[in-house]
Amino acid sequence: MRRKSSTEELLSKLREDLLAARGLSTERLAAQIQEIGFQCQRCGECCRGEDSSVVVFPFEIRRILGATAMDWNDVVEPPQEGEWDSDGVFHTLEWRLKKEDGSCKFYAKWRCKIYGTRPLLCSTYPFYLDSGALSCSECRGLGRKIQPRKAQKIAALLKERCIIEICEAIALLEKYEDFERGRPANRGLCIVHDSEGEHRVITELRS
Ligand code: SF4
Repeated sequence: MRRKSSTEELLSKLREDLLAARGLSTERLAAQIQEIGFQCQRCGECCRGEDSSVVVFPFEIRRILGATAMDWNDVVEPPQEGEWDSDGVFHTLEWRLKKEDGSCKFYAKWRCKIYGTRPLLCSTYPFYLDSGALSCSECRGLGRKIQPRKAQKIAALLKERCIIEICEAIALLEKYEDFERGRPANRGLCIVHDSEGEHRVITELRS
């Protein structure tokens, strides 16, 4: 009963956030981006390294699958953070783009191999919205002159991603089936909860 009410509280907060996100002014965001300044230096640092991790939504995964003819499990993997249930199955939330040798697997020879279908998180980097406020990740391209049209495009994508992220969270919570917690196990079976429900995958041993 307590979980149900906490889920409802979360859903109600997310619906409020959604209203606020829909009311975001892209003109204001674009003006802020222009003031900060940004020009991609094509260093690829956002696609490489241990810290890079791209959260990707199911519709973005399907778009990549359509463009590459790859399989779901070749494109994405579950995050390492999660909990085990009483049957030893690992549960986690949302997907990350797969990595190879510490880099995004789509990064090669200083370019993105899926540039036209790259996730919104990549198209808006290094900017993101934190509770509606514009924030930036570390990036050597910041502080450089940006054309107004480019700033407006990033602002529009930031708003779009913010709305999508909240809608995805609402859909995830509405479909989420809670489970009895258990101890870490070595079975390798993982359930990823996302806006489409549950995906079962075999993954590397975690405990
Ligand atoms: S999808 Fe493309 S832009 Fe995004 S991290 Fe991978 S290589 Fe970089």
